[in-house]
Amino acid sequence: MRVVSGECAPNGADHQWKGPGAVSCVLGHVIVHEVTHILQGLMRHSESGIRKAQWTGVDYQEMTWKPLQFTDEDVMLIHSGLRVRVARY
Ligand SMILES: [Zn+2]
Repeated sequence: MRVVSGECAPNGADHQWKGPGAVSCVLGHVIVHEVTHILQGLMRHSESGIRKAQWTGVDYQEMTWKPLQFTDEDVMLIHSGLRVRVARY
């Protein structure tokens, strides 16, 4: 697993899911998820992390204190997708 650096929306020691930071947090994760579809050139999803097809309540809670991660396969597919793009041009 790889970590996207930085905290998303920490909210004190309890890291509860509330406030405008939560909206920004979800939006950031959605943008990364969708851009990764473009970079990979695939509509596939992963079983865990930021590339899951549907995030659970646990995922939403986790992303407030630690960004959801890419799996190693996600990263490999991003690199593969970029190589395909470079080869086309
Ligand atoms: Zn998706």
